[in-house]
Amino acid sequence: MAKRNGAGRGKVILVAGGAGFVGSHLCSALLRDGNRVICLDNYLTGSPANLSGLETNPLFTMVEQDVCDEIEIDEPLDHIYNLACPASPSSYQADPIHTMMTSVTGTGNLLKLAARHRATFLQASTSEIYGDPKEHPQQEDYWGHVNCTGPRACYDEGKRAAEALCFDSLRAGTVDARVARIFNTYGPHMRFNDGRIVSNFIVQALNNEPLTVYGSGEQTRSFCYVSDLVDGLIRLMNRRQNPGVPVNLGNPGEFTVIELAELVLSRVRTASVIVHEPLPPDDPQRRRPDITRARALLGWEPQVPLQEGLLRTIAWFRQNLAVERAARRS
Ligand code: NAD
Ligand code: UDP
Repeated sequence: MAKRNGAGRGKVILVAGGAGFVGSHLCSALLRDGNRVICLDNYLTGSPANLSGLETNPLFTMVEQDVCDEIEIDEPLDHIYNLACPASPSSYQADPIHTMMTSVTGTGNLLKLAARHRATFLQASTSEIYGDPKEHPQQEDYWGHVNCTGPRACYDEGKRAAEALCFDSLRAGTVDARVARIFNTYGPHMRFNDGRIVSNFIVQALNNEPLTVYGSGEQTRSFCYVSDLVDGLIRLMNRRQNPGVPVNLGNPGEFTVIELAELVLSRVRTASVIVHEPLPPDDPQRRRPDITRARALLGWEPQVPLQEGLLRTIAWFRQNLAVERAARRS
């Protein structure tokens, strides 16, 4: 029987970036719905550990490859999700030219593959395409405020170019391409040293280290739990009619960085205190999604409040940090 998010059974689905934080949860959900899943990933910021439990599933295949190289998949594909791209600022700035090419050449390669297979395509875009926004909250028809020469440009501008490739393919009638603009998402499977705020604060608190607040901490973000995001991505992919426009997916609850630090400190027994470090260049000051469109088109609404999602995420990090510590000792 079809699920409420429209997830059919028995589809053949390629997930590029499937070994990463979000991608691994997406692969699991698609397999749970009875689909065949091919994960394509070069393990740049993903890991086999994220896929543990999936490799033994006969419906799952792993292809280790960079999306910048030409992609050949023989099996007929119904759907392609493109999540391949490092998402944390420290990771995407480590090799900025490769990040840009991952979004441009990689998305181009995957769109060609989608055209050959007549597969529906979903691009994981980002709230970063709004840059340091002058409009608040951010609606999809806001064109954004991005510094194209700064250190975040490799990611922001790469994702903007990928969106352009998707909409050009749609207009040309070559690919049924859809675009989700994802806002800050968190949950289990984030790397310990990922560098993003939620994983940093939780790992610091669990290790009794200071929580590093960049700048004053008055900047805001909106945090979406990963299961809500995955549900939104599947709904967008499975919507019978292509919306023809990008769709924001995020939790509209807005928190300052300081508020997040205090929430983490209140939920972990820890000796940690808050310290301030310099604000990175071009760090967006405010971010909150307007999800009117996702509600109307997808019937989608985040279900997991930040307090609940943080508890689940803290529990996962606590368990996995303990395993890592034990492994280091032995
Ligand atoms: P992540 O870094 O955990 O996962 C990205 C995955 O892509 C990793 O497994 C990595 O190895 C793989 N990858 C990177 N470059 C590749 C390449 N050239 N070829 C093949 N594989 C490659 O990040 P995530 O948080 O899971 O994000 C997934 C997607 O969602 C990304 O495209 C990201 O831009 C987008 N997104 C995420 C967030 C968020 O808050 N998590 C917000 C906005 C957008
Ligand atoms: N941030 C912070 N301390 C950290 C990591 C991040 O204060 O240890 C801040 C960062 O400056 C930004 C916000 O938290 O204002 C979100 O950062 P993240 O890297 O998670 O995502 P993005 O900036 O891409 O939204």
